[in-house]
Amino acid sequence: MTRIALLFVLCLTLGGLSAQTENINNNPFRQLYTELPTPNVYRNAAGAPGHEYWQQQADYVMEIRLDDANQRIYGTSKITYHNNSPDALDYLWIQLDQNVRALDSDSYKTSTSRMNDRMSLRGLSRLEPSFDGGFKIDYVRDGAGKPMQTTVVKTMMRVDLPKALLPGETTDLQLKWWYNINNRLTDGGGRSGSEYFEEDDNFLYTIAQFFPRMAVYIDNEGWQNKQFLGSGEFTLTFGDYDVKITVPEDHLVASTGTLQNPNDVLTRTQRRRLEEARDARVEPVIIATQAEAIEREKTKATKEKTWHFKAENVRDFAFASSRKFIWDAMGVEQSDGSVVMAMSMYPKEGNPLWERYSTKAVAHTLKWYTHFTFDYPYPVAWSINAANIGMEYPMICFNFGRVEEDGTYSERTKYGMIGVIIHEVGHNYFPMIVNSDERQWTWMDEGLNTFLQYLTEQQWERGYPSRRGPANKIVDYMKGDKEFISPIMTNSESVWQLGNNAYGKPAAALNILRETVMGRELFDYAFKKYANRWKFKHPAPSDLFRTMEDASAVDLDWFWRGWFFTTDHVDINLASVKPYRINTRNPEVENALTREMQQEAPRNISDIRYAEQEQKTYDEEDANLRDFYSSYDPLETTMLDKEEYEKYLAGLSEEERAVLAANKYYYELTFKNEGGLVMPIILEFTFEDGTTEVQRIPAEIWRRNWKEVSKVFPFEKKVVEIELDPYLETADTDRNNNYYPSRTETNRFDLFQSRRGGGGENPMQRSMREKAREGSNR
Ligand SMILES: [Zn+2]
Repeated sequence: MTRIALLFVLCLTLGGLSAQTENINNNPFRQLYTELPTPNVYRNAAGAPGHEYWQQQADYVMEIRLDDANQRIYGTSKITYHNNSPDALDYLWIQLDQNVRALDSDSYKTSTSRMNDRMSLRGLSRLEPSFDGGFKIDYVRDGAGKPMQTTVVKTMMRVDLPKALLPGETTDLQLKWWYNINNRLTDGGGRSGSEYFEEDDNFLYTIAQFFPRMAVYIDNEGWQNKQFLGSGEFTLTFGDYDVKITVPEDHLVASTGTLQNPNDVLTRTQRRRLEEARDARVEPVIIATQAEAIEREKTKATKEKTWHFKAENVRDFAFASSRKFIWDAMGVEQSDGSVVMAMSMYPKEGNPLWERYSTKAVAHTLKWYTHFTFDYPYPVAWSINAANIGMEYPMICFNFGRVEEDGTYSERTKYGMIGVIIHEVGHNYFPMIVNSDERQWTWMDEGLNTFLQYLTEQQWERGYPSRRGPANKIVDYMKGDKEFISPIMTNSESVWQLGNNAYGKPAAALNILRETVMGRELFDYAFKKYANRWKFKHPAPSDLFRTMEDASAVDLDWFWRGWFFTTDHVDINLASVKPYRINTRNPEVENALTREMQQEAPRNISDIRYAEQEQKTYDEEDANLRDFYSSYDPLETTMLDKEEYEKYLAGLSEEERAVLAANKYYYELTFKNEGGLVMPIILEFTFEDGTTEVQRIPAEIWRRNWKEVSKVFPFEKKVVEIELDPYLETADTDRNNNYYPSRTETNRFDLFQSRRGGGGENPMQRSMREKAREGSNR
């Protein structure tokens, strides 16, 4: 092969390559197609359950004993598993989530660590876990009591069936187990466990993930097989529960489900107060008072009591137990007239905050979540006080919020506590009822729930200090280092900055959809449609994406792609503003205008210096050098100019003369997309007379050129100022390029950063000190 031929071949190859690159469609408005699963008979293209949608069911009958002396749970259970799938199952998978606390847990092995100059005892203990957690399984038997073949794989257990479980068939399993209850505050945290109160030597138990639970078998994943590593929460099958919980006689128990034997476990007074609470709509009724709780704290019962609960169509079961509990409740009426009991249990350490706010926050949450979704379908909704955490289960959640010893508390504690209760009670809707797969997608429940939490908080109090929701609250995260930002559509365990990724950003994205892209009416209709389509079912991300479009006729492919599949941020730059006026051709107007412009035009330094020099020029000294052009003024209006103008006017149509007469102001604006995310362009124009006008341009303006677009805006009045995104609704990360004339938002700096220690005086304490000072000065 000659050299020339070789070059020719190379050119051909390169030409081919570049043609290929050009053929790839990078348009952010291209159809969201390859990213989504193909619709089928189980999940249709509209985002609804398909005509052959199915899901499994697992029913549980359990007997549980809480050993308060040794902090252990003992349990037996019978699981009835219904195979509603069209598939024959050779084995069943069971989740053993307690095993995340086993000494050989992968959650310890795979957590990264480094040595620091200063290491806390707690930090060191995390390097060498010593708590012996995890399920100790005594047996797994079939319905007839015959041992089953099992294989434990870390936090999962496979149960081999002697013969395949056919479609429509049901099988029974019997299990017996126990485990050591972790102390949540000293054994490395956790969503459930015990809390020890040294002062009165008592425990408060919040118990969850406490029994072997059926894994989900589903049309789009098969068996759920992601191990529990600690972040991706739980994906579970719906079923009915019948649970007997044996605890010390002096404990009060709050649980998923309805109490079946109040006569065995409650006093006559408690039962009477509970009846009163059912009719209470404004103020909660105290069922067990603080004084009674303090009495109970002083001794320890030796006898036990068994509390019996039943729950229908729930995906999980949890409970709380303690002799420290105070208990209050009120009724919340649903649209069909049924009454849900909003209830709280808390130790005295939560008062006076808890008796004032907890149950009311539960009732308020049910009211507003119902408004945006559906009636709350369960008979009770509990809020349980537990230090440091917020964690949700069906009908019951564990929430932080403790006061100082003097009964005062900070604003942060107050609003944090109300916020966490709204959030965790809200989880009843997502994911307890609209049952998405938390192990895969944290954002599907946390993001949607944080969004509704924000709406509910804003209905609690005008200006409620919500941490997340509005677009501008996510700006700092989105403009951060992209090395440490994941797309929202990332598995729960692999996400950087889980709080911002799975709570903050999707909540902001939904709020932007509601306020800016779709509008409240269309959004609320579509969102409610999604909630109702998937209540008591298992939706996937595509079901949400599709339903929101399907029910609104708003093309959101670009929005889901930009906000959920990329880490792009929003930064639209108002790059240039060019004002234009019509050339009137009127010599008197135009000549005067041109003269004005010439006078205002900048001059170069030599022109300025020559004009000012004292020495005369040649033509100033010798008048013979001067001719017609020495005094000719091309901007002087002549008779001929006027005649020509009259002729021009006569040749115009009536419409043309009207446009000329209106003499509007035209502004050509050019926008550059610096961040990558396409978004609507919202502009506020301020006119010379001080009035303003807002124009909203849909994101589709970027559909052919998503890097730079121009648009002309005509006005009757002269524009003196333009602001891009004036109401902070697009999460624009750099507002310095949002103004015409350009404006830079001033930054502040501290002269020096004084170190302020934590745990100082709260404003309630400061106000008390202030009052005491006033008193002593009198
Ligand atoms: Zn949450």
